[in-house]
Amino acid sequence: MRRETKQRKAILKVLRNTRAHPTADWIYEEVKKEIPNISKGTVYRNLQVLQEEGAITELNLNGTLSRFEAKHDSHYHFRCEQCGRVFDLDVPVNNELDERVAKRTGFKVSNHQTEFRGLCKDCQQ
Ligand SMILES: [Zn+2]
Ligand SMILES: [Zn+2]
Repeated sequence: MRRETKQRKAILKVLRNTRAHPTADWIYEEVKKEIPNISKGTVYRNLQVLQEEGAITELNLNGTLSRFEAKHDSHYHFRCEQCGRVFDLDVPVNNELDERVAKRTGFKVSNHQTEFRGLCKDCQQ
């Protein structure tokens, strides 16, 4: 197996095994357990490639530190303003919104991302 393929597979595996929407640094620490000599730059570069290939999604709304996740059904997110955790929301995505924007602007809409903000349950205590 080509080295890049092996690295990319390891990164994808890490992302598929978590719902925590990790940062690139966290992913790097996890991948290092499998490929000890991998560099941070390599992980960053592969994250970029995986995103271009559509295998993962980068969440970088509102200029906050980028979080990554393996591609699965589209969903909304909630980001806790205190602990910084990002949660998947079990709220149906409003696909009608894409059509509405497309109709109004003439743009071709592929999807939309929404991030809700506030305090998670742990941080409310
Ligand atoms: Zn919190
Ligand atoms: Zn998510």
